[in-house]
Amino acid sequence: MATIFLSAGHGAGDPGAVAGGATEAAEIKLICDAVEKELQSRGLKVSVVPELRLRPTIDWINRQAKRGDVALELHADASKNIVDL
Ligand SMILES: [Zn+2]
Repeated sequence: MATIFLSAGHGAGDPGAVAGGATEAAEIKLICDAVEKELQSRGLKVSVVPELRLRPTIDWINRQAKRGDVALELHADASKNIVDL
């Protein structure tokens, strides 16, 4: 069975987007935990990547992945509120 490597964007000292006291890193970690549980409940094999910066995350996955595995990194980035498009 293929493995889904799941990582939460940012963390390891990088907060990602920040708004109203919330950080992308903290919010995405919560979502990542929920996604992990949901995928496992559907019988899928999930491997959660430890909290690392981007390059070490990619290296960690590449050391373990086999052909057919999938890597998924979650983000909730932000943009300015654009009124006029
Ligand atoms: Zn992000």
